[in-house]
Amino acid sequence: MRNKSVWERACGLTETVVEAVEFDEEADAIVESVRPVARARGRCGECRRRSPRYDAGEGRRRWRALDLGTTRVFLESGAPRVRCREHGVIVAAVPWARHRAGHTRDFDALAAWLAVRTSKSAVMELLRVAWRTVGSIVTRVNADVDKTIDRLDGLRRIGIDEISYKRGHRYLIVVVDHDTGHLVWAGPGRNDAALNVFFDELGPERCALLTHVSADMADWIARVVARRAPNALRSADPFHVVAWAIQALDVERRRAWNDARGRRPTAGLARQGRSTGDAKHISQARYALWKNRGDLTGRQRHQLDWIAKTTPRLWRAYLLKEGLRYVFAVKGTEGKIALDRWIEWARRSRMPAFVELQRRIVTHREAIDAALDTGLSQGLVESTNTKIRLLTRIAFGFHGYQPLVALALLALGAPPPRLPGRT
Ligand SMILES: [Zn+2]
Repeated sequence: MRNKSVWERACGLTETVVEAVEFDEEADAIVESVRPVARARGRCGECRRRSPRYDAGEGRRRWRALDLGTTRVFLESGAPRVRCREHGVIVAAVPWARHRAGHTRDFDALAAWLAVRTSKSAVMELLRVAWRTVGSIVTRVNADVDKTIDRLDGLRRIGIDEISYKRGHRYLIVVVDHDTGHLVWAGPGRNDAALNVFFDELGPERCALLTHVSADMADWIARVVARRAPNALRSADPFHVVAWAIQALDVERRRAWNDARGRRPTAGLARQGRSTGDAKHISQARYALWKNRGDLTGRQRHQLDWIAKTTPRLWRAYLLKEGLRYVFAVKGTEGKIALDRWIEWARRSRMPAFVELQRRIVTHREAIDAALDTGLSQGLVESTNTKIRLLTRIAFGFHGYQPLVALALLALGAPPPRLPGRT
């Protein structure tokens, strides 16, 4: 008897009786025969309602539990079926595992904890499980979190964005809470219908409480937000506005590169070969042009100096990009004044890409001013997206988008997964 209670404690079992423990040579694992205590027996696997027994089901089965030392452990028990008033004939609940799971709750907890904190290979090697199994585990752990807390409660200021994964073949819409910094929702797609799913889940009352929605200028997001969150001020995403400037700068960079190349007699061959001379310098300076001024390496600073001296038009384009970044760095009234000046500057730049950009900015001025007033930076959304993008890379082996969403919510939402046996 004492031995059995030691086994119960060692495996963190509750409401469970250990009947016997043996070492299964074939499985190379410890196998504990267990059964639920009387009060936990004969309950529906879905709703836990006490229900009359139906039959013995498919007989005895095993659940993978946490290792003991270096040895794998399985719990073994019958899996009788009961007839639930609501759910019909269904496998009875067991205290040690989730319904339909092949692993114990503790194993699930550890796997989810590791999945959000370590690498894919670390999880697989340490737990000796397939990555797809981890996908199923995080999905059910997250489903349990969803049952206990409502991540959409108390939202006032949110950020919406879309990200692509699987080399641009799949899209996720991502919603973050600016006030807590948490990821609160993610769903597949990139259109009105996909975003409407979020607002449907939020419900009209909570939609009406939204005060600010930051998003990029995608028309479909603006359209849905205007209709579903009528009280919310739409706030532009500085990150995306600066990204527009980088695109305009890139048009100028390509133009400068073509001009430089065009001056060379071997222009016709340059398509296959490497560019040389000025064109080469311009092409090498690409990253220096894109980057934040403060993040430049010594070499990149030299590259910019070279452009300033040799390619004045491209240099002006660079300064315009940096000027727009400055607008969002200073924010507030000062930012708005700086933006007025910037618009004038871009209008007279005689660079079509920037003339077009200032027109676009004038069109979205209200949302951009809102961003400058509130200081709501999509930086939060941006960093969330960067993290999700990293997750999408490891989610390649998952089946469908649900495990990816679950992993993202567990990693970037609240509350984070907990280790088994610790509160
Ligand atoms: Zn039921």
